Amino acid sequence: MKKKWYQIGILDKNLCSNCNSEFQGLQTLDHHSQICPSCKIECIWFSFKNEKTLQIIPEFAPKEFQTFIKWAQKEFDEIEFLELILSFEEIAEAL
Ligand SMILES: [Zn+2]
Repeated sequence: MKKKWYQIGILDKNLCSNCNSEFQGLQTLDHHSQICPSCKIECIWFSFKNEKTLQIIPEFAPKEFQTFIKWAQKEFDEIEFLELILSFEEIAEAL
């Protein structure tokens, strides 16, 4: 079975897509890879202004998306990456 490579959560109630552990207090906007405190899988977290969060697990993501993440991590600093995400968010809101 194909593992889910992303998970939508809400601030203060985040479930890891890999291990389903719940953890709280996600405050980071770091776009560099982190690890799940429970299962230790590499993942990236985003939080949005509507208090939703997004967890991406690069290991399970489509190859092209992995490449995109690596490129963005290398080329952008935190602020630039946040601007990119906000731009995506703006489009998503318009849908
Ligand atoms: Zn986990």
